Amino acid sequence: MSSAAQQQPDSSSRRTIVHKFGGTSVADAERFRHVAGLLLARDEDEQITVVSAMKGVTDALIELCELAARSRNDWRDPWHELRARHRGAVVSLLGEDSGPTLEWLDERFEKLAEILAALAVIGELPREVLDRVQGLGEVCSARLLGDYLKSKGEDCAVLDARDVLVVDRSDLGVEVDWEVSGQRLADWRAKNPQRRVVVTGFVARDRQNRLTTLGRNGSDYSGAIFAALFNAAELHIWTDVDGVLSADPRVVPEAVQLSALSYDEACELAYFGAKVVHPQTMSPAIERGLPIIIRNTFHPEHPGTRITAERDVSGPVKGLTLSPDLAVLNLEGTGLIGVPGTAERVFAALREARVSVVMISQGSSEHSICCVVRAAESLRAQTALLNAFAHELNIGQIQRVQLTEGVSVLAAVGDGMAGQPGVAARLFESLGRARVNILAIAQGSSERNISVAIDSADATKALRAAHAGFWLSPQTFAVGVIGPGNVGAALLDQLRAAQPQLLVKANLDLRLRAIASSKKMLLDGRGIGGDWRASFGADSEALDLDRFTAHLVGSHLPHLVIVDCSASPIVADRYADWLAAGIHVVTPNKQAGAGPSARYEAIREAAAASGARFRYEATVGAGLPVISTLRDLIDTGDAVLSVEGIFSGTLAWLFNKFDGSVPFSQLVTEARGLGYTEPDPRDDLSGTDVARKLVILAREAGRSMTLDDVAVESLVPAALREASVEDFMSRLGEVDALFADKLAKAKATGQVLRYVAKLDAEGRASVGLVELPKEHAFANLRLTDNIVQFTTRRYCDNPLIVQGPGAGPEVTAAGVFADVLRVAAGQGANL
Ligand code: ADP
Ligand code: ASP
Ligand code: MG
Repeated sequence: MSSAAQQQPDSSSRRTIVHKFGGTSVADAERFRHVAGLLLARDEDEQITVVSAMKGVTDALIELCELAARSRNDWRDPWHELRARHRGAVVSLLGEDSGPTLEWLDERFEKLAEILAALAVIGELPREVLDRVQGLGEVCSARLLGDYLKSKGEDCAVLDARDVLVVDRSDLGVEVDWEVSGQRLADWRAKNPQRRVVVTGFVARDRQNRLTTLGRNGSDYSGAIFAALFNAAELHIWTDVDGVLSADPRVVPEAVQLSALSYDEACELAYFGAKVVHPQTMSPAIERGLPIIIRNTFHPEHPGTRITAERDVSGPVKGLTLSPDLAVLNLEGTGLIGVPGTAERVFAALREARVSVVMISQGSSEHSICCVVRAAESLRAQTALLNAFAHELNIGQIQRVQLTEGVSVLAAVGDGMAGQPGVAARLFESLGRARVNILAIAQGSSERNISVAIDSADATKALRAAHAGFWLSPQTFAVGVIGPGNVGAALLDQLRAAQPQLLVKANLDLRLRAIASSKKMLLDGRGIGGDWRASFGADSEALDLDRFTAHLVGSHLPHLVIVDCSASPIVADRYADWLAAGIHVVTPNKQAGAGPSARYEAIREAAAASGARFRYEATVGAGLPVISTLRDLIDTGDAVLSVEGIFSGTLAWLFNKFDGSVPFSQLVTEARGLGYTEPDPRDDLSGTDVARKLVILAREAGRSMTLDDVAVESLVPAALREASVEDFMSRLGEVDALFADKLAKAKATGQVLRYVAKLDAEGRASVGLVELPKEHAFANLRLTDNIVQFTTRRYCDNPLIVQGPGAGPEVTAAGVFADVLRVAAGQGANL
């Protein structure tokens, strides 16, 4: 193929660099100036610059053709606009000397107008006409850059690639006629020997001498072709990112820049959708070992990504890509087993129908053959197989030819994957955790690529999850918090304070996406940063838990967690659905844990089925590790005999203080003043809250139990249960004599009064006031401490005790936060 090189015997002594500038690099006059500055500052012996159309121009030209063919006159305004955009750039760049360039430009646009008018008459868009028109942007931008360089006093030549480059366009892509192209270039060069040459990207001519293109994004390929034809030492592809990144930065903002890639890796990434470089670009480079450097016009000092033959097996995955708009075609039948030649017939039929196969997978049972094809070709492909296997379908040897549309392929690429076990496992684990269903899997025998076909609706989430899974980016969670009251607010503050550290130390990104109270909610697409109180006050809308949920799911982040800091049974009613949908639920709300058995069972089953976590450590003893301790005991095979303790900070304080010197009612009033009680102290005194905690622990210990099974001794006399809070507080003195009496009785035997919850070995559960010896563990707590005592088979002589502050928004929120982190660790976060 290297005929051009052979015709330039002096080329070895000259250093030629080919530069290719993409549309974003030449978007407007200012960018052209910048590009010219970059080029003029370089001192290679021969400088060949391939340019794309100004950003968006190719799309605009295609749109113009379609408009004209569809509806007569609609093309005129956009045509004017496009001409004005180009004229504007000319005038800005060339100023007083714009005349000849403008004249040239007007001529091209007049010709374009003639073509569009003709399209409007015939009312359709022939392929040849489209090919002719869509390359105009490159012709204009090359001329513009050339004229600008000349206006700076540089002697440069402008080459319309259609004058030299001859290609064959087939279904397989574009093939260059190196012989003819090399010859034509040599002829052109003999007449145009300038040191700097500006070349049109994208466009070419076919063997029948018709104008054509190299396909969308084809200017990269132009760059490589001209690098080969000019026998260049390097090809620099200038774009708007720092090089090839580990994933599309528009989908994965955390994607990292790759300093080097092998040709093979770059080919695979490009083929499977990494838009940064056209897949055919590598082929001319591979043959001659030409290095390709992808670099950023906006950061010219950045070294970019170097693509060479060199392999670097670290990684093991270098990059991830997504190809959208695909479909899975599945041929299935018992008659396929052991029948030679079936695969060949499938692919022959598809080739016949001019369908290109993106990916193939066949199970070793040979019961089905599955291939991935482009959506646009999928019906054609299905029909082709139905026809090819009509006989087998008829006689039942093949059961079906099934088409699944709306498919994307996620590919993980890296030379280092070869021979390295565990890479596929890591990929599937990440996808599984993010609840992405895999439709088909393929691994090339080069082991450089693992591809999975997935539902397009999952594509973004899948890419982010896989990226996070390979530690290329943080584990990312969308977080929704319900109930920004005392505990919720403390949690939101703790979350914000811990975020930077979690990101750096644990690679964990907890993104607060939604906050809801009982009346309103704040949904944010980018994450609620900064002052959540202000945002929640200013930007919130009416509460709608369906939309709240849909918003979190719609974030396409790999993991979702809802933290319910409300005390609402209505929110608890949602848990099962959330868990079933793969949303983790973390809560200090006791409604689910202690509520109706049916709801509790549904929650447990949903979590078990989906693998989503339900965590509620802070429902008992606030931040104290009560439930996790109990769980550890059970998980390690211990048997819980009994659970006892003081589970209410309020009641603990009251009976620690109650020594007879002050009436009981006065202590309640004092506790209420200190904020130790609920607004209605009867919520504490009734014992229900304690009973709920006991139910939660009993269920955790494997006993099925509801609130009705707990014998509850309420400290609120029957007469005061229905009264208003004010009435209750003013009449509380009525109970003083009773409590004084109970205390006196206890004291008489050297004991104290404590409000204790108890689950015994027989499964009996009670909460109420008991007399305990002064030296009992429960009699010697700090004022508001909680204590939980587990007697188990292992801890039977000397029970296991968890003790400490068991109330307060800060510690409760910390308990909730710890649960969120446990969930994250369970999903692979580095905690
Ligand atoms: P140009 O106009 O310079 O040819 P393109 O828009 O064709 O630029 O390609 C560059 C864009 O490709 C980047 O802006 C980026 O958004 C996108 N892209 C997709 N995947 C990748 C990837 N893996 N690495 C870098 N960029 C990528
Ligand atoms: N301008 C062409 C396109 O948009 C070619 C390119 O930019 O690479 O497809
Ligand atoms: Mg491009």
